[in-house]
Order: sequence, then structure tokens, then C-alpha cells
Amino acid sequence: PTRRIAIDGPAGTGKSTLARTLARRIGGAYLDTGAMYRVATLQVLRAGIDPDDADAVIAATSDLPLEVGTDAGAERILLGAEDVSEEIRTAQVTANVSAVSAVPQVRENMVELQRRLAAGGGTVVLEGRDIGTVVLPDAEVKIYLTASPEVRAQRRTDQDRSAGRDADYDEVLAAVIERDRKDSTRAASPLRPAEDAVVIDTSDLTLEAVLDRLIALAVG
Ligand code: C5P
Repeated sequence: PTRRIAIDGPAGTGKSTLARTLARRIGGAYLDTGAMYRVATLQVLRAGIDPDDADAVIAATSDLPLEVGTDAGAERILLGAEDVSEEIRTAQVTANVSAVSAVPQVRENMVELQRRLAAGGGTVVLEGRDIGTVVLPDAEVKIYLTASPEVRAQRRTDQDRSAGRDADYDEVLAAVIERDRKDSTRAASPLRPAEDAVVIDTSDLTLEAVLDRLIALAVG
């Protein structure tokens, strides 16, 4: 039977780790939709295009040779033949992804691809900002993760440092607040919980505790 699990929320809620671990534990596929917007953003930056120039962004990304794996055990993100799974996590991509993902035509292309990738049947965990509200409004399970901006900035800082990237907490906090503002006030698919989503504030919870709740919801 088809079981689509939508996990939405802002950055730094533990969403990626939780969604991927959940998919592995319950034997489902996994789709990181943020990675798709990041690949589009990388393409825009490489082409030297202004991310705020919507027409140029659409032209540069409409035939994007993008491949995103759905195996929860192995991240596979390709731009053409090139593995860009590391490069899409740089601060430069992160700083520009909100502008690119605010372009309605870019979103339409991505949403179409996301729906196709989710349509394989079986269990699939999709992680993003608008999965429960736009991509799969009829998903069997909808979860919205939140946490305070300070907690999320600290998690991002730790994550970047452990991945060997430089990170300054105050700068990360400012970037978190700015990206939240852009993502939640944009006209196209603003970040918000679906009306029927289960909202979990992870500020004071360990990853293990949240994961237990997610597993219960996912298999329930
Ligand atoms: O989750 P991640 O931090 O990789 O997402 C990067 C950005 O992509 C978000 O800040 C948001 O602007 C955009 N995004 C989106 N819709 C999604 C997933 C991500 O607009 N479903």
C-alpha cells in the first residue's frame, strides 16, 4: 500500500537527519526536496546569473539535468554527470536558495518532479517546506517540525563544523532568521504547517525522542 510521509519545517529542526533515519528504519524511500532547490541554485550561481532575476533563473533551470536519488542509505545528487552533494551545502548556495525557490515557475518544475518521484508506490518519506501543503496535500501522514531560531542556529553551527565547514554562531543565527523570513513571507508556497499536520517542537527534545514519535506516526 502507498504511504507518503510529508515532513516539513524550517532548517535546523533536525528534519534532514530525522527524515532520512525514519525512512531507513521503516524501510521506505526518501526524497530531500531542499536538495533539488539547492541544485537549481548552484546552476544559477555557476552561470553567473543574478538569483533575483526571475526570467534568467527560469531560463537557466528549466531543463536542469538533475538527478536525485531516493535511497535513504545513500545520498545521490547529480547535476549532469557530476556529483554535487557536497557543493550544494556551501554557505553561498544556502544564502541564495531562497531567491531561486521563490520563483513560481521553478517551484512548478520541482513540484512536478517531486510528485513523479513519490508516485512509485510503497512507503516514501518526503522532506521539505511545502510537501503537506502543496506537493502532496493528500499525504497519508503529515508532520511539521519546529524549534526556536536559537536552537536551530546552534544545531546548524555544530553540523557545519562537524562537516569541516567554518561556522560562526551569530552569523548562522542571522542567516536562519533571514531565510525563515524569506521562506515564510514569499507569495509562492510560503512555509507554514498544513492544517492537518502534527506539529512537533523539537527545541527541548533529543533526536531519539523525536524519532520515536515519528516512527509511531509513520507506522500508525
Ligand atoms: O532544507 P534545505 O535547507 O536544504 O532547503 C533549502 C531551501 O530550499 C529552503 O530554505 C527553501 O528556500 C527551499 N525549499 C523550498 N521548498 C522545499 C524545500 C526547500 O522552497 N520543499
